Amino acid sequence: MRIAIIGAGVIGLSTATVLQSHFKDADITIIADKLNKNTLSDGSAGLFRPSHNVKEEYEKEIYRNSFAHFLRIFQSEEAGEYGVQMVSGYIIAEKLEFVADLWYKDLVLDFHFLDSEELKKLNLNKKYCAYGCFFTSTVTECRKYLPKLLKKFLNNNGHVILAKINGLHEINKLPYNTEKSEYNFVINCAGLNAGQIINDKSSMIPIKGQVIRINAPWIKNFWFLSESLENDFKTYIIPTTQTVVLGATRDEGVSDDTVCPEDSEAIMQRCAGLVPSVKLAPILTEWAGLRPYRKETLHTSSPRIELEPLKCLAGNFDFPQYLAESRTIVIHNYGHGGNGVSMSYGSGLRVLELMENYLVDNKDYDDDDGHF
Ligand SMILES: Cc1cc2nc3c(=O)[nH]c(=O)nc-3n(C[C@H](O)[C@H](O)[C@H](O)COP(=O)(O)OP(=O)(O)OC[C@H]3O[C@@H](n4cnc5c(N)ncnc54)[C@H](O)[C@@H]3O)c2cc1C
Repeated sequence: MRIAIIGAGVIGLSTATVLQSHFKDADITIIADKLNKNTLSDGSAGLFRPSHNVKEEYEKEIYRNSFAHFLRIFQSEEAGEYGVQMVSGYIIAEKLEFVADLWYKDLVLDFHFLDSEELKKLNLNKKYCAYGCFFTSTVTECRKYLPKLLKKFLNNNGHVILAKINGLHEINKLPYNTEKSEYNFVINCAGLNAGQIINDKSSMIPIKGQVIRINAPWIKNFWFLSESLENDFKTYIIPTTQTVVLGATRDEGVSDDTVCPEDSEAIMQRCAGLVPSVKLAPILTEWAGLRPYRKETLHTSSPRIELEPLKCLAGNFDFPQYLAESRTIVIHNYGHGGNGVSMSYGSGLRVLELMENYLVDNKDYDDDDGHF
């Protein structure tokens, strides 16, 4: 079986390693124009924290599987190499409704609501300290996690083609396909560009996010300020293995990822409202990235994980006949918005489930009669 995965961010690499450990004999190729530190995923803070507004059971399962995966890594000898740590922390809210009904309270560890005594002891700025909760989660430092996944993939005979694909209509041609047969499966993990490569440019929208990394080794807990049910990832402090991340901004529709000094100033002010000592800590880096949201699921970060035969996409392109005759199956896995790390492993498992179901329903789908 031949599989191509477009994208080597946290979604592409997680999917690649999940498929590789299941289909031991499969020939798997990642095609990506950016790797490791050049991806969006590299800049993420990496905290496992689900979106507030998840309604679908299968999505909750994606989060559950991902969290179990990160905890398994933490309990392995390789936790340091993967950059996975366990971190506890607080969500502080101005209104009860922002923390009252968190669906994931039974998923994370040590969850409890803060009573007035505990809130008082925390000595928080009066403006913020009305309600809150505490829990333990994981932080995955993508600067370590992505290179480790990539190395694992290559060591297990995976291939990588460093190239920019213009559209999925090219997938079975050189230089993306160096063999004579078609790919059986192509997994679309192209993040913000996932719509573009299927010629559906209007389906995705960036939400720009800027963060500052400081050197503050005395901060060992994460801190969130929940200001609304929709923008619940705006103000936060997250310790990673080597730095502390101060976030963030949420600029809907902004596609310029250059760092804005005024935004950095505002982030610093908001975070100092939660933990004043961040102000005097040395700044290591300032960074901005574009979260890959789907327009139709802006408030849930719900990704698209769906199967679609490549020939069904033929109408999207000014296409040659070979595309309409293709037997290649596309599985989309994109649009994880502000929760891509938190959903990464579970999304890979979901792709595997779709592939297995397809193979059960199509027993004659063998890999030897591919044609261009
Ligand atoms: C400031 C900030 C903080 C964040 N913090 C967190 C957090 O704490 N927890 C969390 O869960 N999430 C967080 N996120 C969200 C997370 O970063 C994203 O959801 C995640 O990185 C998306 O991963 P991805 O693999 O889909 O995309 P990307 O990392 O962008 O990877 C896309 C891949 O596709 C490839 N590609 C794209 N187009 C093409 C093409 N045409 N041809 C070939 N290759 C192509 C790229 O080269 C790249 O390899 C944060 C995001 C931001 C901006």
